[in-house]
Amino acid sequence: MANPIVVNVPVVVRPSVWVGCLACYNAGVLRGVWAYAEYAGAVTPDEIHEWETDHEELW
Ligand SMILES: [Zn+2]
Repeated sequence: MANPIVVNVPVVVRPSVWVGCLACYNAGVLRGVWAYAEYAGAVTPDEIHEWETDHEELW
């Protein structure tokens, strides 16, 4: 019986997180964006709402 061929395929894992607005969540609306984890801290409230907002707390 022939030995199986073993091929190592590199797998790149790039974690993503969902950054959501807490005020919208508390109002019953899920509003947020998916972002690569390394950029999650740079997501701004305006990017999530697509308009000016006074919602500041992102989770
Ligand atoms: Zn909001």
